[in-house]
Amino acid sequence: QRIGVPREIFPGEKRVATVPDVVAKLIKLGFQVVVQSGAGDLANLSDDDYRAAGASIASTTADLWNGSDIVFKVRPPTSDEVALMHAGQTLIGFVWPAQSPDLMQQLAASKVTVLAIDALPRTLSRAQKMDALTSMAGVSGYRAVVEAANAFGRFFNGQITAAGKVPPAKVFIAGAGVAGLAAIGAAASLGAIVRANDTRAEVADQVVSLGGEFVKVDYEEEGSGGGGYAKVMSEGFQAAQREMYAKQAREVDIIITTALIPGKPAPKLITAEMVRSMKPGSVIVDMAAEQGGNCELTVPGEAVVRHGVTIVGYTDLASRMALQSSTLYATNLFRLSEELCKTKDGVINVNMADDAIRGLTVIKDGEITWPAPPIAAA
Ligand code: NAD
Repeated sequence: QRIGVPREIFPGEKRVATVPDVVAKLIKLGFQVVVQSGAGDLANLSDDDYRAAGASIASTTADLWNGSDIVFKVRPPTSDEVALMHAGQTLIGFVWPAQSPDLMQQLAASKVTVLAIDALPRTLSRAQKMDALTSMAGVSGYRAVVEAANAFGRFFNGQITAAGKVPPAKVFIAGAGVAGLAAIGAAASLGAIVRANDTRAEVADQVVSLGGEFVKVDYEEEGSGGGGYAKVMSEGFQAAQREMYAKQAREVDIIITTALIPGKPAPKLITAEMVRSMKPGSVIVDMAAEQGGNCELTVPGEAVVRHGVTIVGYTDLASRMALQSSTLYATNLFRLSEELCKTKDGVINVNMADDAIRGLTVIKDGEITWPAPPIAAA
């Protein structure tokens, strides 16, 4: 079968769903690969790089979609893209079925099969190698630190120079999930003093192992809401948490917020008052900007200065490191391809008896199969 990789058309999107090194591996699995001309341009990957790896190049969007049995994408398809699909085709990429009922209907009407990488059952250890949410969150967390360092006017590490002593920067990370942990690691490796907080106490050891200090909220309440995710906390907890965050805001130079609760707006953790209390020149990177923001003053998609504090609300952090994120994403999709093609003959088999495959198959031959039934405990 032939795998097609279109050029992403979402405004500003720089990622691409496969990279030349992975093209070569897909060919070894028995697939043919066709890449749309220019698909890798914004990730610094040229048509010639893909050609050298064994891909063919489609010069038009229509040729690409018509000539593919399987389409690898990053962003969910637009309705124009779905209109290019044909019955029997398989789409693999981010889909967000819960947020996209119209898209799901349109895809189903096109009689295609859709594997939503965002619907992968992440708690299956076998699924980790395919977990694109984790790889993208990891890149984004790292990039959040790079953005903070870029907006900050001082060193991260302490230095003793001939011109005097420079203290290390203090960084506070709110939310220590995948993105938060990546940010802790990146900020610590630049030499900052790093502190972090999460409502799930279980992450404290991971914070410490990455070089951070776990700061507890002075209130007994467990924050796990199941499946490794957080829940909405009680009023009492939130008040105690605000008090602790207000203290951190006065002390630190940089705050990176990553707190999310599945299916809910992002918790508002950093108030306008806390921003005002920060030192001039401080930086906040709000990684929850797209879900409403963890900071009251965040403007999604923009970097703004409020009360002398730069607040970065970019919603495209992974795309800002397009080569790295494309490479990791391509590898996640390759690992999925291996699972779909155990026979190594270039033909996929969407095996609905396999928990991981069942979880991410949201449409099978035009029939909506999302949400998957819960996985029985092993
Ligand atoms: P996420 O992006 O939904 O949330 C980010 C973090 O914000 C979470 O750690 C959450 O606890 C925290 N948070 C939510 N509300 C908060 C609040 N009010 N105050 C402070 N922190 C708050 O989560 P994620 O990073 O996608 O993943 C969460 C967890 O899922 C990970 O820590 C990981 O252990 C687990 N996970 C497991 C697997 C696996 O088992 N294979 C794979 C991926 C992720």
